[in-house]
Amino acid sequence: MNRDALSSIADAINEMTPDFSKLSDSIWDFAELKFDEKRSSGILAETLEANGFAVKRGVAGMDTAFIGESGTGTPVIAILGEFDALAGMSQAAGVAEHRPLVPGGTGHGCGHNLLGVGSLMAAIALARHLKENGIAGTVRYYGCPGEEGGSGKTFMVRAGLFHDVDTALTWHPAPFNGVRSTNNLAVLEFYYRFKGVAAHASNAAHLGRSALDAVELMNVGVNFLREHMPQDCRVHYAITDTGGRAANVVQAQAEVIYLIRAPEMPQALELAKRVDKVARGAAMMTETEVEIVFDTASTNLLPNITLETTMHENMMALGPVAFDEADLAFAQSVQDTFTDEAIKSSIRLYQIKGDVFSNAKVDGATPLHLGLREFEGHSHFRAGSTDVGDVSWVTPTAQCWTPTWAIGTNPHTWQVVAQGKSPAAHKAMAHAAKAIATTGLSLITSPKLLAAAKAEWAEKADGKAYVCPIPAEITPSMLAGSHVVSK
Ligand SMILES: [Zn+2]
Repeated sequence: MNRDALSSIADAINEMTPDFSKLSDSIWDFAELKFDEKRSSGILAETLEANGFAVKRGVAGMDTAFIGESGTGTPVIAILGEFDALAGMSQAAGVAEHRPLVPGGTGHGCGHNLLGVGSLMAAIALARHLKENGIAGTVRYYGCPGEEGGSGKTFMVRAGLFHDVDTALTWHPAPFNGVRSTNNLAVLEFYYRFKGVAAHASNAAHLGRSALDAVELMNVGVNFLREHMPQDCRVHYAITDTGGRAANVVQAQAEVIYLIRAPEMPQALELAKRVDKVARGAAMMTETEVEIVFDTASTNLLPNITLETTMHENMMALGPVAFDEADLAFAQSVQDTFTDEAIKSSIRLYQIKGDVFSNAKVDGATPLHLGLREFEGHSHFRAGSTDVGDVSWVTPTAQCWTPTWAIGTNPHTWQVVAQGKSPAAHKAMAHAAKAIATTGLSLITSPKLLAAAKAEWAEKADGKAYVCPIPAEITPSMLAGSHVVSK
């Protein structure tokens, strides 16, 4: 990418950073849960409008989903933003100890306050650059609600909102800087709800039919099934209703939630059928009934090395994030709350082997990632799941990570919330915006590059059409409470 264009985008984002950091802090304060992000999506949409974007609210049947568009013609670059918080994650900002603001309250435990705003900055800066330089192309910000267990993007894909998109870009807050190519797993989530007959557990036990027995037998059955699952599949569960605390009552109802993951969605769907059989077997053994209730689903990611390489090259040109002594001191105090093993395991998880700028090994000796992860040019297995996967099946998609958190920080922890308003997090958020905006520009100004990304995408999809994993009759509003799809 041309150096002048890169520095002009970087300068524009630097200028925007103070105001947009406040926007991110407001979303951190709101800490709204999936599909309830009214104020968060509201201020993001208003900011887009104030910057000349035409905004459509309430898309794909979700009140808090929106799309903002600026520019003209093709290509169409989609930039994805999230803004939902997590339950039970309330935590004070700027302190290195566990201190909930509201006991049991919500909090931004995955950094989506930064994610939503960083992507917004990228969209605004890129659109402005196109306009100022008379370059054709459309920039679209996708305000994606309910990433945490709501599959907001999956609904947006199902509604056809990406049908004319040429490529999608996004990022995620992290304890490292760089691009990492992963094949995430497809995931299906179901509740298995058993109904039996209550009875006195001693003097009328023969009249009772225990739903809790059914849950236990189902779990035993699934644990035996494990040996016969394809490699790289994952099945895990939590008992969400034991039926009560009284041991002298036969439990008439009980419920267990299962997450069924596989490298590709058709395998996950096949495995879910086998788990269903185990559940029905458990119901038969205990003479109870089982109801299988769909919760959520997202598809595995199709990585795109062409896009990822471009993003990495732009991140090389941008240089490291300019952290200062105060950033390092706060990150150090957060890092002091982790064990050495946790720090090492985080470095291993993100496979931060070498550093592009210094060639030094990342070993946790510095509390923040001061360099840029080497990009190895091929994909790794990763056992997590994300609804970015669904987008990647309908358009070439890439993402990067920037070091908003101390090395060793894991998502969904109080430490993430504590670092969510820090000056270091704001700097890393702006850095992600630069990486996305410059990559968008690289694609808009190089039809050859875009064609190569599309060719790679077609090759990876290998003729397989995207099939939405959410049953057709399920709407987003049903997911607030879950919905029965089969018996
Ligand atoms: Zn997240």
